[in-house]
Amino acid sequence: MGGFRHLFGPVPSRRLGLSLGVDLVPPKTCVYDCVFCQIGKTPSPTWKRAEFVAVSAVLAEVDRWLAEGGKAEHITLAGAGEPTLHIGFGDVLHGIRARCSIPTVLFSNGALLFLPEVREKARIADIAKVSWSGWNEASWRRINRPPPDLSFQRVAEGIRRFAADYAGELWVEVFLVPGLNDSPPALQAIASQVNELGAARIHLNTASRPPADPTVRPAPLKTLQNAAALFHPTAEIPEEMPLQLEGAAPLDRSHIENTVLRHPATAAQLAALLGQPESNVTAELDRLEKEGRVRRIVRAGQIWYGPPA
Ligand code: SF4
Repeated sequence: MGGFRHLFGPVPSRRLGLSLGVDLVPPKTCVYDCVFCQIGKTPSPTWKRAEFVAVSAVLAEVDRWLAEGGKAEHITLAGAGEPTLHIGFGDVLHGIRARCSIPTVLFSNGALLFLPEVREKARIADIAKVSWSGWNEASWRRINRPPPDLSFQRVAEGIRRFAADYAGELWVEVFLVPGLNDSPPALQAIASQVNELGAARIHLNTASRPPADPTVRPAPLKTLQNAAALFHPTAEIPEEMPLQLEGAAPLDRSHIENTVLRHPATAAQLAALLGQPESNVTAELDRLEKEGRVRRIVRAGQIWYGPPA
């Protein structure tokens, strides 16, 4: 199985189990250019929506993946940017639902939920995760670096309206960036806004992978633990999930590349994911790096592979 352009993984995750990723936008297309983004800088943040790839092409890959015996616990719209920028993301969610009983997940920054049509389509997902890391216009601009013609108030109101009548499971991710939103007053303000959303789960995150802005550092565990208690329900703190897949799979170059482009990883993590000796994976990563298809990033003495700059 392999050779997919719009599907990646399945990637094991602590919260979703084995999750097949569906990527609907070219790298890297996003409303935001978050300082902590693990998939690199957004060249031009935009909220202009488009059909970046034909819905039929995406669903044809889902058909092939299912026909080839693909197994996953969730199918997640995520990847190299913001999935709701694709005007057909709702058709993709509908299409997946019509084809299998695997629950669908939408990983979104939530920035476009002020648009009624985006709220309507996002409701199709069984789980929707949105982001909330600033607490006012200035903090949101510093952290998420949105386009000038969006406002925090507009985005926040969109997320609130979605949360108010979403029948699925709402998750909220708060990304802590030391120096930008980790002071006690900042955390109090974020927590009181997020708590009003009535989310089923709240996730605190921090830069555990190399971020778009290399000056961004991960928040200390103690800060995360203290912050977690401010949220209702208590926020969950990420543990770096060892990427582990049962059984050995053949070494698949496109699988390595597709994973790294959306989910930067070390050679050891990829080796565990693919059930391959690390030396084989490192050799393939070296080749991909020489061809300019992936980028090697050294961070805190550890070598990561991610999308090209
Ligand atoms: S972290 Fe998410 S929302 Fe922020 S720039 Fe990256 S892809 Fe976009």
